[in-house]
Amino acid sequence: MNDVMQGLLTDGRERTRLPERPTMYRPGFVYLVGAGPGDPDLLTVAAVKRLRAADAIVHDHLVTDEILALANPGAEFFYAGKERNHHVLEQGAINALLVTLARAGRCVVRLKGGDPFLFGRGGEEMEYLACHGIGCEIVPGITSASGAAAYAGIPLTHRDHAQACVFVTGHLKNGSCALDWPTLARPHQTVVVYMGLGTLGEIARQLIAHGRSPETPAAAIERATSACQRVVVTSLAALDRDVTHAALRSPTLLIIGEVVRLRECFEPAATRASAGMALI
Ligand code: SAH
Repeated sequence: MNDVMQGLLTDGRERTRLPERPTMYRPGFVYLVGAGPGDPDLLTVAAVKRLRAADAIVHDHLVTDEILALANPGAEFFYAGKERNHHVLEQGAINALLVTLARAGRCVVRLKGGDPFLFGRGGEEMEYLACHGIGCEIVPGITSASGAAAYAGIPLTHRDHAQACVFVTGHLKNGSCALDWPTLARPHQTVVVYMGLGTLGEIARQLIAHGRSPETPAAAIERATSACQRVVVTSLAALDRDVTHAALRSPTLLIIGEVVRLRECFEPAATRASAGMALI
């Protein structure tokens, strides 16, 4: 290769090498892994490697069977539940289970839907493990907002429509939905609501009351990225009525803002390009 080619390929800059991630999977260690929003094609290579190496896998209900099928078949699987109001294991019991498995010398994967650090209590589990002297590594996942937006053809930001995008939860610890409405109702902003199915009437009312137009487009996306994804596109004013009419169930994500209109120019591929490709 000549010098010009070399220069083009490397743009002449020194690359800083990233620190090596562990390639040997450690016993007595917990990998807090994001499983992405559902489509197994959206798993990271890092997630698949750890799933194959683990001998104990603690997963919640958002993780699909197709994803679990990629794990080491000899692993022991623990279902931690976590549907709203249907906790199979309380958070305290999940934390304790992770510590027990790690102390027993198991190579543990704690597998969570989407990204572990976005509304997934990954932070709480990491704190608990640290307090108990257990080593842990975080493997990021594609969050459902990115997956839902991509598979529904809705860009979360766009220079003409939204210069900001905020992720909020519609469900607080005490069951209420006390959000910062004046900030959320600002124009030129996309609002993504996780866990908002139970409170979407209240969310729409408050956004309108704080100045967002009732005509603002809104989308509710159920089981995003899965083969049974359903998308309801409506306006803020009609969101509650239309989602109720379509009987959307959990998990559903809300995307509110002008960007939703861009879905009109989206032509979904009949099959996704990666479908049928052998995994890695
Ligand atoms: N850590 C996860 C979020 C967990 S909170 C992430 O990064 O995506 C659970 C909420 O996420 C659900 O109530 C729903 O609002 C959203 N969610 C997760 N997976 C989803 C999916 N496949 N389709 C639609 N919404 C999803």
